[in-house]
Amino acid sequence: MPDLVFFGPPGAGKGTQAKRLVSALGIPQISTGEIMRAERKSGSELGQRFDEFMSKGKLVPDEMVLELMEKRLKQEDAARGAIFDGFPRSVPQAEALDGLLGSLDRQIDKVIVLEVPEDSIVERITGRRIDPASGQEYHVRYNPPPAGTEVVQRADDTEEVVRTRYADYKAITEPVLQHYEPRGLVVTVDGVGGLDEVTERIEAVLPKG
Ligand code: AMP
Repeated sequence: MPDLVFFGPPGAGKGTQAKRLVSALGIPQISTGEIMRAERKSGSELGQRFDEFMSKGKLVPDEMVLELMEKRLKQEDAARGAIFDGFPRSVPQAEALDGLLGSLDRQIDKVIVLEVPEDSIVERITGRRIDPASGQEYHVRYNPPPAGTEVVQRADDTEEVVRTRYADYKAITEPVLQHYEPRGLVVTVDGVGGLDEVTERIEAVLPKG
């Protein structure tokens, strides 16, 4: 079973596509953003510490994210591989992930970069809506929720916060690709198009077997 990284700017569709591949691949999606949002929702002290960063669109410090990941990887469902979504987001996180996987005799098999042009990102993110009951994501224009579904907007999906998230992506997250490139693990997929179309493109580059 593979360990895959879904990579790309905020709003590229990493989470949406990762969820679509979970059952086909038989491995869980591990989204640090979702884990931290759940913690925040629980009202815990840890959740409040995450919120200080998340609400401003800033990256949560590496030590906090890594502590969380170490715990998550120990869970039974992640014993045979995972789709990492929104992680690693900095070079130190990528180095730490190598260590964590290495201790389990595993390694990253592929880094799939979803490419979406900068000018689409703000529109994608500000139009994003979530059904809080199911966690299902929609877009007001490209994938509208069924009539009668009550949806909400993520607090950090405003235009101003998106600009900060994108700037951090370019400065801190994109260099992570240079960590994986020498190992020949990085593949780029066009993230623009219908949901099924993008899923097919990803399936075409997945490791065989
Ligand atoms: P996401 O759901 O992946 O868009 O993440 C939402 C927010 O959670 C980000 O803007 C960061 O504030 C925080 N976050 C998620 N994953 C990470 C990570 N790997 N490192 C640091 N911050 C993260």
